[in-house]
Amino acid sequence: MPAMPIVFFGHGSPTNTLESNRHTQAWRDFGASRERPRAILMISAHWYLPGTAVTAMPRPRTIHDFYGFPQSLFDFRYPADGDPQLAQRVAQLLASRPVRLDQEWGLDHGAWSVLAHAYPQADIPVVQLSIDSSLPSASHFEIGRRLGALRDEGVLIAGSGNIVHNLGLLRRDPQAEPYDWATTFERQVRTAIEQTDNVSLVRYDWLSEDVELSIPTPEHYLPLLYILGARRSTDRLSVLSEGIELGSISMSSYAFDTP
Ligand code: ZN
Repeated sequence: MPAMPIVFFGHGSPTNTLESNRHTQAWRDFGASRERPRAILMISAHWYLPGTAVTAMPRPRTIHDFYGFPQSLFDFRYPADGDPQLAQRVAQLLASRPVRLDQEWGLDHGAWSVLAHAYPQADIPVVQLSIDSSLPSASHFEIGRRLGALRDEGVLIAGSGNIVHNLGLLRRDPQAEPYDWATTFERQVRTAIEQTDNVSLVRYDWLSEDVELSIPTPEHYLPLLYILGARRSTDRLSVLSEGIELGSISMSSYAFDTP
């Protein structure tokens, strides 16, 4: 059986859950065109805390971790099962660091806003892995490398964040032009991915002079490092979608498939 692909989703606004646009269509096309995974391991920007935890409950709840959005989003549920055995397997693969088997979290909107499109039936078990905010960026890459073994076990490893994510400078007009620095940074990241320049992608301040505008806080960028860590030299890169929304949010999504 060929290894499962890996994917980074640029999730953008929670409203994408209930919308249909070129990005959500790209997520749908991804799910529909790849082999169905046995389970999904999701690394979402929205579970960012000190320590490594993995959801280990059989039925994760849908977490509505935002405010000021329409009621229809708060009513949304993504009823996928969990996979306690996969949680144990993740802990085993990361044996050198303590992993907490979590019974409290669930699925946050970084996970379900994209999975609602990629796997709309919610019939594939999903486990979330936290992003340990106390670790240097190289450690996130290293964790991704260790998790890469799951690709041979029918598990889809998915990251969900945004390459460029600056809410403070968001332009509320949907027709707003992107900031130049946002467009530049999105392009620099794509080029570095195409060149497998992992050193620059891990030390992302090497990519751009004004990196702090694109990554004022790292949690939306870091899921990409897990995916790059799990990448194999034979993988074929696909840019599923890209472009800057609301001035300062990159919607870039990347898939890596074995030939
Ligand atoms: Zn987000």
